[in-house]
Amino acid sequence: MKRRNKSSVFASIRMAARAHHVLTVGTILCVASSVVASLLPPLLLAHIIDGLTAGLPLTLWAVLAYFCSLALEGVLSSAQESLLVLFGQKMTHALRSEMSHKLTQLPASTLVDQNPGEVAARFSGDVDTVEALFTSGIISMVADACRILSIMAVIAVKNTGLALILLLVLPLFAAFTRHVQRRMLAAQLDNRRAVAAVSGQVPETLHNIRTIRALGTEAYMERRYDKRIADGYAAMERTNFYDAIYSPVVLLLNAVVVAIVMLLSASGNATVLTLFGMSVGTSVAIINYISRIFAPIESLGMEIQTIQSAMAGVKRIDAFLTQPERTIPGERQKAARGDVELAHVTFGYGEKQVLNDFSMTVHQGEQVTLIGRTGAGKSTIFKLLLGLYPPESGSVTIGGVPVADITDRERRTCISCVEQHFARVPGTVLDQITLGDPQITAEMAKNAAQLAGIDTAICALPDGYDTVCSEGMFSQGEWQLLSIARAAAADPAVLLLDEITANLDAETEARVLDALRRASEGRTVLSVSHRIYENLGGRTVEIKIL
Ligand code: ATP
Ligand code: MG
Repeated sequence: MKRRNKSSVFASIRMAARAHHVLTVGTILCVASSVVASLLPPLLLAHIIDGLTAGLPLTLWAVLAYFCSLALEGVLSSAQESLLVLFGQKMTHALRSEMSHKLTQLPASTLVDQNPGEVAARFSGDVDTVEALFTSGIISMVADACRILSIMAVIAVKNTGLALILLLVLPLFAAFTRHVQRRMLAAQLDNRRAVAAVSGQVPETLHNIRTIRALGTEAYMERRYDKRIADGYAAMERTNFYDAIYSPVVLLLNAVVVAIVMLLSASGNATVLTLFGMSVGTSVAIINYISRIFAPIESLGMEIQTIQSAMAGVKRIDAFLTQPERTIPGERQKAARGDVELAHVTFGYGEKQVLNDFSMTVHQGEQVTLIGRTGAGKSTIFKLLLGLYPPESGSVTIGGVPVADITDRERRTCISCVEQHFARVPGTVLDQITLGDPQITAEMAKNAAQLAGIDTAICALPDGYDTVCSEGMFSQGEWQLLSIARAAAADPAVLLLDEITANLDAETEARVLDALRRASEGRTVLSVSHRIYENLGGRTVEIKIL
């Protein structure tokens, strides 16, 4: 599907509706015919009963017509439901793919600030409310509004008095509905916030489970979790309360209106009868219509609530979709190769200044170690070189090409980074090395593993390179070797090594350093670690803390 720069929920839905135009038109036609079909049964019933009271015989055709009208109403209404569900699914599918595309377009600075639970809630809960917008929201609301208007028109013709009563009652009822809806929306928003906070807490706990166990902070985590759940329940209880009082009020009103009309039409007063007088058949039809007018008003209320809750979802998804995107560079003819240069770079995270007018050049093929106190900005320099953050001023270039102009496709062959912790992706050992990149063949991955000295360990696994990875499968040193294999697989010109031997014992460290020596050959290497400096030699650059 074609994508635009500026996206929003409704823009993406409009595009999806256009792409599925047959389904869109079919759904609208089905809804319209379902409205018309729902008017027929009471009219036919009135005709039959009036015929009977006038002493006419009941014909088979009349009965058949009545039952057919009921069947038609049922068929069309279930077709309407099915089509609306299908339509809703197509729309949310389009919306979810737009959102997942958006996620790939967000800059690193935005991504690190996001609460994973919140983002997940936008993809699941919020998109579900938008789906409800179609399955039981906007279209059904229009259909119900049409049902109410057409029933009002028929009632006005059949019993003017009742139409007047309804004109009086319905606005009051609408005001009541509105009041309930406002309260509902506030409660729903609170609930959504609480749910997002709860779902953020679970991955956070799992992520930090070792620390939590080690420090014995289970009780603290549990209290925090309980508080968030309690907030969620409190908000949900408010929603349930309004939900519970709404339907009984509708039913009561329905009964009162029927009773008043019946009493007035049985009053025998001539003036009253000019307004309320009707035949037996018509009175049956009228009772039928009254219940039919309250049903759509009741669902109209619910639909408005659905729409409101969906609008809260739409707002949140729109906020997500309209976040500024990273700039995607155009393809260039020549790959970025040559000296790595930071020139007069100033950079900070928000208010916090980390680098101020910092300059450094690493010549092609040179091996340089960055040293400096913790928090000085060594890892930050790597983040700038990887193009994850743009500098506030100055330039970061490789072979004269600003790193921001290096395309995603080209990046792995240009620069790669090995960090202290291996970031495992779901999948096999081969997937860990290739990262699903079709440009890296199985053979390239094997060569990289051999270079890193992990090939033998991989081949000893039950399915070799096709073994599905699990946490305890390799030792920490072996994960580090796999990390080197991952970085070396695309044969990058520049290799960044950030404290990669920090947690290793002497023997494992020697293996990792051996692998590094092989992987560093012919490349520009920037590393952070005293021990690598001692082993690989080369020049050091000191990063001073600001
Ligand atoms: P270490 O030797 O401990 O790894 P470092 O030299 O690599 O330290 P950096 O990780 O580059 O230091 O961090 C430099 C400063 O920037 C630190 O004060 C850190 O708190 C801050 N910082 C790093 N990442 C972020 C971030 N995503 N948001 C805000 N501040 C950050
Ligand atoms: Mg660091």
